[in-house]
Amino acid sequence: MKATEKDLNESPAISSGWNFDNSYTRLVNTFFVKQKPTTVKAPNIVVFNQPLAISLGLNMEALLKNDANFIFSGNTIPVGAEPIAQAYAGHQFGHLNMLGDGRAILLGEHITPEGSRYDIQLKGAGVTAFSRRGDGRAALGPMLREYIISEAMHALGIPTTRSLAVVTTGELVYRDSALPGAILTRVAASHIRVGTFQFAASHDNTELVRSLADYTLNRHFPTLVNSENKYLSLLNAVIENQAKLIAQWMQVGFIHGVMNTDNMSICGESIDFGPCAFMDNFDSATVFSSIDQQGRYAFGNQPQIAQWNLTRFAETLLPLLHQDLDESIRIAQSALSVFADKYQQYWLTGMRKKLGLFTAEPDDLALVEELLSCMKKYRMDYTNTFRDLSSGLAIGFNEEENSDTPDFITWHHQWRQRLSSQTESLDDAVALMSKTNPVVIPRNHQVEAALSAAESGDFTVLENLLKVLSQPFKEDANYMSYRAPPIPSAMPYKTFCGT
Ligand code: AMP
Ligand code: MG
Repeated sequence: MKATEKDLNESPAISSGWNFDNSYTRLVNTFFVKQKPTTVKAPNIVVFNQPLAISLGLNMEALLKNDANFIFSGNTIPVGAEPIAQAYAGHQFGHLNMLGDGRAILLGEHITPEGSRYDIQLKGAGVTAFSRRGDGRAALGPMLREYIISEAMHALGIPTTRSLAVVTTGELVYRDSALPGAILTRVAASHIRVGTFQFAASHDNTELVRSLADYTLNRHFPTLVNSENKYLSLLNAVIENQAKLIAQWMQVGFIHGVMNTDNMSICGESIDFGPCAFMDNFDSATVFSSIDQQGRYAFGNQPQIAQWNLTRFAETLLPLLHQDLDESIRIAQSALSVFADKYQQYWLTGMRKKLGLFTAEPDDLALVEELLSCMKKYRMDYTNTFRDLSSGLAIGFNEEENSDTPDFITWHHQWRQRLSSQTESLDDAVALMSKTNPVVIPRNHQVEAALSAAESGDFTVLENLLKVLSQPFKEDANYMSYRAPPIPSAMPYKTFCGT
């Protein structure tokens, strides 16, 4: 055993509360490779998510006593965990590649005291059979970015993987420059992706796809197991969850940035926060990712891309949907054809709430679209505009202050008329809007400030940001600065994958 490893044969008296099962390893071993994390030199925990640890049923005191540094770096494998790297494929910017966990290692599935099952994955834990030419490692900045964004998404009420800890490794990783290395502990309902199904389908072996589909049904959709055509039910459920998820992204102005099929989770969680970012000024064409040069994953393209990815998913299920291929294709097409309407319904329902509307009227879509085109025309901040609309209802709308945005004044009149046509009071509308429109989102300039302070050893900026983002709907006079949009810059903001 190396000096950096530590024997963790915990006595029950100081159990950290880990309760591992490894159901994924009971699938046929085509789906994974057994792989332990590579130990790191000087693991040091720099962020730890105490509320998440508690909700998982972990014992904080014991965790820290048993040395969280060793567990969350992968230097020590908790009792019961059987680490693996998962195999998957993926359409990356439209091109199918064989991938797999090249730098992530799944420790196993932790079962909470309530019986919920979560994947515990270490991202940046060393090379695997799927690393290709990569080093298996991750830099501190991108791991903290995932921590910040995933926890912000969770606080916004959007299904997402979570972040339990970040440790620095005491080693450097080499990208454009030498950067501090880090490992993120990701908690997910599972890591089954559209790309996992594509991997199974690439073997031309229906039984392989069937075993994955059955596993997925049992794990995520147990109520569908006995339905008449359970594989069609699976397809429908995945379509439904994605329609709901993407609508939520669109309502908060979230741009995933790399919606490759390997980054789309089957259970409907947001996953893999690489070059993602929140939009400031509203513009459907917004792209932040430096690698997305064609704008394939631009803000406004996300619903169509989701449908494209779901079509790739449906293709993998064709052998299971019906014994006649033509009939399978017909079934799949008909299932996919409802996506656009479903998405639109979820989106409009959410947008009505953002505008304080309790009822549904035929003109609501036009009302929302007109607001968005005002925002685009006048370069208005997406998040603050919605929040200001509700505070404006309470304190009054100042036409003079808005005299340079005449279309917005016209729109405001229409909106007020629409509000007065419903029986609910303006106070009710304000209350609805206040819990639907966040005060704070992880703004790019604040995320960057937190990351660069952390990279130079100061984690207080990050800690403060995380605290504010954990209550995104709370008005707090002390945190007004977090609402400020970035100072306009000559260069558009760019995010980098950081792989
Ligand atoms: P991502 O862009 O994070 O979704 O990753 C796409 C693929 O590249 C996945 O198979 C990753 O495991 C792999 N990958 C990303 N970074 C590295 C790295 N540093 N070393 C090895 N594989 C990597
Ligand atoms: Mg990925």
